[in-house]
Amino acid sequence: MSKTTAFFGFVPLFLSAVMTLGAADAPARKRMAIVIDDGPVPAHNAALLALLAREHVRVTFSHEGRYVVAYPELAKAVNAAGHEIANHSFTHPHLKPMADADIEREVADTSAAIKKATGHAPKLFWAPFLEHDERVDAAVRRATGLEHFPFTKYHFIGSLDWESGTTAEKYRELCTTGIVDGTVILMHEWPEVTLANLPAVITELKKQGVEFVTFSELAAGK
Ligand SMILES: [Zn+2]
Repeated sequence: MSKTTAFFGFVPLFLSAVMTLGAADAPARKRMAIVIDDGPVPAHNAALLALLAREHVRVTFSHEGRYVVAYPELAKAVNAAGHEIANHSFTHPHLKPMADADIEREVADTSAAIKKATGHAPKLFWAPFLEHDERVDAAVRRATGLEHFPFTKYHFIGSLDWESGTTAEKYRELCTTGIVDGTVILMHEWPEVTLANLPAVITELKKQGVEFVTFSELAAGK
């Protein structure tokens, strides 16, 4: 065997051994994106930002343009705290029955409001009620250049915090059960159940080894 053959024969064996070791040694990642919808509104915004800062957790807030216009300082604080802000339309309508021009106005005005308040245009669209189709997506793209966050590619959990009957126990169970790498959990700014129980949920998720990422980070495979 020549030296060259020996060398090239050795490298793949060596590499495959390293890669096998790497796969065995590296703990499986468990990335999760929390999305907090329907703000920014004064009721819980500052308290949520404080608890997320305390826990060193970054999330995605999906903001309604009408509230960003009313409370630009809240959107600015969310951005300054390092969270992502997604475009959640201006008035939270059901978009599918709406005319193209009205859909375009909903999302264009929201992107403009977020840009004005924070200095940054949003990078993703997140439809009210998660109701969108190809025509809605095309209108959003024309008006803002944004794509809808592709949540169907991920393990999606609704925290049910928007239902009045959701108890603390139910909320905690939903938010911490069956978590896999690439999980998205939908929450809202306004429910008491979220404000009161998110700290316990984050503590449990950290025990499970969850890495908290934003929508953009998850979509980019970070
Ligand atoms: Zn919403």
